[in-house]
Amino acid sequence: MTLIDQAKQGIITEEMKIVAAEEGTTPEFVCRGIAQGRIVIPVSPYRKARPIGIGKGLRTKVNASVGTSSDIADIDLEVTKTKVAEAAGADSIMELSTAGDFYEIRKKVIDATTLSVGSVPLYQAFIEAARRSGSIVDMREDDLFKVTEEQARLGTNFMAIHTGINWTTLDRLKAQGRHAGLCSRGGALMSAWMAHNERENPLFSEFEYLLEILKRHEVTLSMGNGMRAGAVHDSTDRAQIQELIINAELSDKAHEFGVQTIVEGPGHIPIDEIQTNVVLQKRLSGEKPFYMLGPLVTDIAPGYDNIVAAIGAALSSSYGADFICYVTPAEHLALPYPEDVHQGVLSARIAAHIGDMIKLGKRDADLKMAHARNDLNWAEQFKLAIDPQTAAQIRKERMPSDADTCTMCGEFCAYKIVKEYFEL
Ligand code: SF4
Repeated sequence: MTLIDQAKQGIITEEMKIVAAEEGTTPEFVCRGIAQGRIVIPVSPYRKARPIGIGKGLRTKVNASVGTSSDIADIDLEVTKTKVAEAAGADSIMELSTAGDFYEIRKKVIDATTLSVGSVPLYQAFIEAARRSGSIVDMREDDLFKVTEEQARLGTNFMAIHTGINWTTLDRLKAQGRHAGLCSRGGALMSAWMAHNERENPLFSEFEYLLEILKRHEVTLSMGNGMRAGAVHDSTDRAQIQELIINAELSDKAHEFGVQTIVEGPGHIPIDEIQTNVVLQKRLSGEKPFYMLGPLVTDIAPGYDNIVAAIGAALSSSYGADFICYVTPAEHLALPYPEDVHQGVLSARIAAHIGDMIKLGKRDADLKMAHARNDLNWAEQFKLAIDPQTAAQIRKERMPSDADTCTMCGEFCAYKIVKEYFEL
């Protein structure tokens, strides 16, 4: 029996207990959320990962994506990035390689982490087609399902699958046009295949078959946002909303079938459309967990897109997004290196916490930090910091003459002055 089947029967599992303890809630709350489709715990019968709950009433989770590219296909680098992401506090890893030996890379990444691992199976199906015959448009429909099954057997916990791109979606995209096309690799690959072969997307037309595979291997379905905008000027357009409507409808089918489901969202969107996107996803999908990819709220800050995405992610989390994907400073410029991964995870974790302060009212740590600062208790400040090492390192490198204060104001430390002359 799958986790969702157990939840529907009110059976409390070990994973539900672990998630409830981590979140400070009850196993019954988690169980009910899974039964209703509002919470998922991506599990796998092939591998024990640290269980995380994603969804309503739970802490916003952070995903870090790793994976090779055709220019940099170094397995050891991806394994290092995976370890760096976990050490920096990521909640899950997505292994998104598009070059090298897919099986070997995924196996090594999975073996290198205790976190849940996600994938995008269609990358492999399309790239293997290109290797076989020279073009991605020669992808064979069965390969999509074969690869999905292969990756599931490796212990993949969740998969981003582009179910919502069909001819209605594509017609809307073409009728409206865009400034910057598609930024989703999966969306671009599937749309190109459909247009070239004049065929329907098999992940849409054979959705029931896909569900059978996912249920058999207990994979959580993350419904891909292939139409997400890659530019703020293309945000929240008809193609994106069309895909969302289809995914929302299919997410109900998946839930009824017994497959845990997440619905993905954009992308590049200006700050004043974030709330609309969260509300739309939640209303249309019946409050399925929302995986927000970014969102990036401006297009003109390459080199700092971790900050751009953190601003968007903080807002989207505050409005109810459940799962955010990190963005590194290398976004739009190059394949990330380990230091970029570290920066990306920390930026996303800060954003998730800022969102949770509003969404869940989680402000205890901020209150404790206020008291630690007021007391000039540096050890406590480091303990409470999201990145204690960096905070401690900066202070250590610039120690003040008065060990209580810091070199910012030195002897004119505001906290010290207040304590010396009046009580608050
Ligand atoms: S010296 Fe200034 S910046 Fe440093 S702890 Fe005191 S008030 Fe804060």
